[in-house]
Amino acid sequence: MHDINLRNCLLCGEETVLFFPENDVLLKCTGCGVVFDESSNLGEGYYENERVTNVDEKKIKPRKRNAKQRVKLIRNVLKKESSLVDIGCGEGLFLQEAKNYVNAVYGIEPTKSYVAYAKGKMNLEILQGTLENIEYPDDSFDIVTMFHILEHLSLPSQALTKIYSWLKKNGHIVIEVPNIESPTAQCKGLNWELICTEHRFYFSPSSLRYLLEKNHFKIVSMRFRDFDQYRTGIGTNLRKLGITFGNIKNKKQIKTAEKQTHPHSAQKPNSSVLRSIRRTIQLPLKVFLGWLVLKFNRGDYLFVIARKT
Ligand SMILES: [Zn+2]
Repeated sequence: MHDINLRNCLLCGEETVLFFPENDVLLKCTGCGVVFDESSNLGEGYYENERVTNVDEKKIKPRKRNAKQRVKLIRNVLKKESSLVDIGCGEGLFLQEAKNYVNAVYGIEPTKSYVAYAKGKMNLEILQGTLENIEYPDDSFDIVTMFHILEHLSLPSQALTKIYSWLKKNGHIVIEVPNIESPTAQCKGLNWELICTEHRFYFSPSSLRYLLEKNHFKIVSMRFRDFDQYRTGIGTNLRKLGITFGNIKNKKQIKTAEKQTHPHSAQKPNSSVLRSIRRTIQLPLKVFLGWLVLKFNRGDYLFVIARKT
């Protein structure tokens, strides 16, 4: 076995261990518990340029529903007189929704096509750039939101220091990140979809709490959710709830193989009655399972509201 040079934690300086024995770039801190990708290096301008060339209109509908759910979760911190900035605001769908409840909304977004969409189609006030290169005076905002941003940053603690200064006294920060301790993450290990080269840090409830408290934020609430959680696939949510029906991947493979050898036999026509029954029960079932996943804290995302102290 080759020697692995384990660097110290990028957040607290404590020693680290390999997070997965078979992978030598993901390290876990023995102190604060954060996991980080020590090889991650995307280069400057990665998020500015051609990462997303066009906004995908098909994704707008689910993203809109997702934005509505996020707004719902923070309704009690949104006040008529408040000002809010969303860091990494994408197409601006969250801001568009939040605008109904606060006095003023602003966005920061590095990717050019998103900025064009948010400004043009949504008529929002957006600055093109990143948290690192944009400056606001102290005490500018009542609420700062960042959804799936913190895990991409190379200096998350410095980012929180900056946000702290932008916030007014008793202002709120709202963060959503993938939860490295979610049931799906634990079950899938290295195959978890949310382990990717764009993610530098992987937080858990305790490591995110550590980082926030280190930066003088007080946690108001912490919960678990998923993207567009009331429309997630039935199978996916059943698995999140710990209910599985054999090896689903194998079943899929068998079906594909069947289709290839007997192209007609696999396409048994469904009766229209069965199809309409399925369609009628699908949506309420999805909503119900989404609710169960939320209720039993089985979601993949950590959603935190914290207050500047
Ligand atoms: Zn640490």
